[in-house]
Amino acid sequence: MRRYDLLIGGEWRQAEGGRTFTVDDPATGETVGEVADASPADAAAAVAAATEAFPVWAAKTAKERARILFRWYDLMMAHADEIAECMTREQGKPLAEARGEVEYAADFVQWFGEEAKRVYGETIPASHPHKRLLVLKQPVGVVAAITPWNFPAAMITRKVAPAIAAGCTVVIKPAEQTPLTAGLLAELALEAGMPPGVMNLVTSSDPAAIAKVWLEDERVRKITFTGSTEVGKLLMRQAADTVKRVSLELGGQAPFLIFDDADVDAAVREVMASKFRNAGQTCVCANRLYVQRGIADEFTRVLAERVQALRVGRGTEEGVQIGPLIDEQAVAKVERHVSDAVSKGARIVTGGTRLTQQGARFYAPTVLADVRDDMLVMREETFGPVAPVRVFDTEEEAIELANRTRYGLAAYMFTRDLSRATRVMERLEYGIVGVNDGLPSVAQAPFGGFKESGLGREGGRYGMEEFLEVKYVSIGLLP
Ligand code: NAP
Repeated sequence: MRRYDLLIGGEWRQAEGGRTFTVDDPATGETVGEVADASPADAAAAVAAATEAFPVWAAKTAKERARILFRWYDLMMAHADEIAECMTREQGKPLAEARGEVEYAADFVQWFGEEAKRVYGETIPASHPHKRLLVLKQPVGVVAAITPWNFPAAMITRKVAPAIAAGCTVVIKPAEQTPLTAGLLAELALEAGMPPGVMNLVTSSDPAAIAKVWLEDERVRKITFTGSTEVGKLLMRQAADTVKRVSLELGGQAPFLIFDDADVDAAVREVMASKFRNAGQTCVCANRLYVQRGIADEFTRVLAERVQALRVGRGTEEGVQIGPLIDEQAVAKVERHVSDAVSKGARIVTGGTRLTQQGARFYAPTVLADVRDDMLVMREETFGPVAPVRVFDTEEEAIELANRTRYGLAAYMFTRDLSRATRVMERLEYGIVGVNDGLPSVAQAPFGGFKESGLGREGGRYGMEEFLEVKYVSIGLLP
């Protein structure tokens, strides 16, 4: 059992009234931890602490800020197994994946520590000889970060590391289902020397109440959110009253286009990596597979063979590749999508059922064929281990089908034809395109979506810009 209080102003303190809530293992339903359940007053106290810490932190040199981030990185790597195990217990993903996420999460901390030293300004040629024009980059101020459960570590560091590197201070509300990983990361940040108030952690079972306090407070200058498009829109509306800066990483509906010239084995390998990571619960998961007619039967057969061989079970068991879904609602959504598809004529090639013998929240990795565009699996984010295969004929048709969605986060294609890859890549209305690559995310590249998949970018130098204000200074030289 892990237990965490709120981290406010460098101190662990109980929530108002001593309230707490428990955290369950999605694989077993067993309670694995307990955390403080913050009230609106606690949320306000966190903002006060971050506000007090801001001017001191912003005035530190980039090198000083980087030093603390590097120590945090080292501690995350030294505790990688412990963080991974904590993550698997509260989120369900297989241990090997959790371990991979710890490295990915730590990469942001290291990369933004390095990048802190490269926040360059600019000089601009003036129109008058007696003037000098400068551009300064300065931290935006107090940042509120709200994160989801599917990447309990990386979604925190992808926001917090650039914010802190830029000189901002942060208040974080992690997902209710995965607050333990957040607590452990915060503990390591303190050990790394993070000064009081620079990073504050507020766990709560009432996210709307916490967000309301933060969004109404004019001292909070930025909200950065990862989660569903619906909640993202709510937050964006609320942020308007104090004209906060807003970064949103929202839902996806990723298409994966596989052309006739593709190497089927390699394409299946990348589709598997993209689709079945975290049991299909990622925003960049291939949600819709479009396969050109010439290789559709072979592709579907090879994919089904590989999917059938996936080992499902508790994430803590050796060799498990697919863990449970996060909660009952998630399993119900997958069931609804599959039964809708079947009722409209889809064929289950493999899977298609809940695996009750494993536990209530396990769903069999599934491949659907004879899929049509009006099925829910092709129109909404399934967020589960279901791969629907839809056949297409021409390149033009594939592009049109891929873009036919309100989302625009990630898209993928498999082809050996460079000219085709270039044409298609340029026309896909997506923030991330994987060409013969099912796992494109890395700390040094921009991550984010077009359309209703979000606003702004995380990762890479673009991720740093999100936490910086641009200040133009015109200096008149006196005679
Ligand atoms: P969610 O329900 O939107 O929750 C995300 C966060 O928002 C959680 O911390 C949640 O708190 C909080 N929240 C919920 N309702 C809120 C409200 N009314 N006001 C303020 N905060 C609120 O999303 P999720 O189910 O956790 O995550 C899955 C979604 O995230 C999927 O759509 C996925 O595609 C998206 N996602 C996007 C990216 C990306 O980078 N684009 C990455 C990962 C996930 P509670 O936990 O307490 O409910």
